[in-house]
Amino acid sequence: MSLTGKYDQQNIFAKILRGEIPYAKVYEDEHILAFMDAFPQSPCHTLVIPKKPSRNLFDIEPQQLTAVITGVQKISAAVEKAFSPDGIIITQFNGEAAGQTVFHLHFHIIPKFPELTMQRHGRGQMAEMNVLLEQAEKISAAL
Ligand code: 5GP
Repeated sequence: MSLTGKYDQQNIFAKILRGEIPYAKVYEDEHILAFMDAFPQSPCHTLVIPKKPSRNLFDIEPQQLTAVITGVQKISAAVEKAFSPDGIIITQFNGEAAGQTVFHLHFHIIPKFPELTMQRHGRGQMAEMNVLLEQAEKISAAL
């Protein structure tokens, strides 16, 4: 996968955006969608994506990117308010070689809790949907 290939309409986040697979929604507006990562590196690992098809950071209009990063800031603040982690890590990967596995632009919001070991990127265990829904509701309520 190169950084400049064609957008794949069958990627998992495109399916989420079309409502074809279940997910735990945190927030939605005309530009972005935020939801819980199904294989969290840490509890409450949240993803923020643009609605517009974009493979990575180089494939999005600056105006849309502004909406995404503003969303990341807003949702991170809600994660902080809802769960009081010690810190929050924000990550974003471009291209397979960099570790990107889903080719629709996304930012990871990963809270760091002192007593919990964070899983490595791509090594999280699948979470129970009811747990994700509960976390999403708490973050949403803190927005
Ligand atoms: P990347 O590796 O591309 O930076 O991140 C992709 C993220 O999507 C990973 O953290 C992975 O756990 C998450 N993910 C993969 N499949 C699904 C899914 O079906 N639903 C949700 N909510 N997250 C997913």
